[in-house]
Parts: sequence; structure tokens; C-alpha cells
Amino acid sequence: MKIILASSNKGKIKEFKRFLNYEIIPYKEIVGDIEIEENGSTFAQNALIKAKTIFDLVDKDRYIVISDDSGISVEALNYRPGIFSARFAGNGATDKENLDKLINELKKRQLSSSKAFYTAAIAIASKWQDYIVHGWMYGEVIAQKRGENGFGYDPCFIPEGFDKTLGELEDDIKVQISHRSKALNLAKPILNMLLKD
Ligand code: IMP
Repeated sequence: MKIILASSNKGKIKEFKRFLNYEIIPYKEIVGDIEIEENGSTFAQNALIKAKTIFDLVDKDRYIVISDDSGISVEALNYRPGIFSARFAGNGATDKENLDKLINELKKRQLSSSKAFYTAAIAIASKWQDYIVHGWMYGEVIAQKRGENGFGYDPCFIPEGFDKTLGELEDDIKVQISHRSKALNLAKPILNMLLKD
């Protein structure tokens, strides 16, 4: 049994590989470049849609599929962008465009920061059953970019207990505290069980 990751986001692929001791195969290497329509209304629904769409296309006796749907919720923006984090600045927006939009939205409200949190929902689709786990990371977003590490909104996000953004903090720190790592910690025993034989 091997693990396929239902994501083409380079930042996520890197963090999954860093965290899990299993071989992780990006789905494009197995099923090619297909478009997955994320039309759920929660992180959990979208994570399951991604995992099941890919699982339907592969040999169910050889693979399990893991996916991640994640995003940032900003208190001052009424908890937006949430599940729309990847397309905050419009469909097909780049990380930079989304980050600039977040900063502009704060500046429009004359705010230099706001409480915020990241959510990650991780789904696992297998021939036995589907699983879903969550992780969160709390902190604040600031209306400026600091640092180059991480991806997405990380140059704006200061985790609780720190005074640097995830763009400035080493990847080793993010891996200890992130929403994705917390969800992956819960996913690990499930993966260990599914990959046992
Ligand atoms: P998804 O690939 O549809 O789940 O979209 C995730 C969105 O949330 C992307 O815009 C990411 O940049 C953002 N995001 C999710 N997790 C992180 C993170 O760990 N750091 C920064 N941005 C993240």
C-alpha cells in the first residue's frame, strides 16, 4: 500500500514529506493533471472531495489517498478568507496576490494587525473507509510581509507565543506548531494502521 497526496501545492507537498516518514507520491505522477472542483462549504468537505476524487481514479488495493484543505481565517475580516484562502484575490490567484489582498483589506480598515488562525483538514480515502482530522494554529496577521520562509500567507502570520512571522521563523519551528502538523499527528496512527500490511 502506498500513499498518494491529492495536492499540487509545493508548500504542502514539502511539509507532508518533511513530517511523514512514508513515501508520498503527488497525485499528478499517477493520474496526471486533472482539475478537482472544490465545491464544499467546509474544510472537511473539500478535503474529502479531493481525496475521494483521486481515490476513484486509482487501484484501490495498491493506494490510499491523503489530502489537505486549509486556509486562514482573520477575525477583522469576519473570519474570511477561510475556505476561500486559495482564491481570495480571484480564481487562479497566486500566493502573492492573495497575500497582497489580505494586507490591503487590513489597511482599508486602518488596521496594522488582527487575530487570525489557520485550519487544516486532512482526509484519508482508503478501500476500508474514509477518515478526517483537523488541526489549528492561532496567532495574528500583520499588514506587512516579513521573511521568505513557508508559503502562502506565512510572511504575514505571527504564531501565538512568537514575535516573528512564519516567513522569518525556521521551517523546523513551523513543523512543530502548525495546523498541518497537528492534523498530521492525528493522521499518523491511522496511516500506520492502514499501511501495516
Ligand atoms: P487549498 O490548497 O485549496 O487547501 O488552499 C489553501 C490556501 O490556504 C492557499 O492559499 C494557501 O496559501 C493557504 N494556506 C494553507 N496552509 C497554509 C500555510 O501553512 N501557510 C500559508 N498559507 C497556507
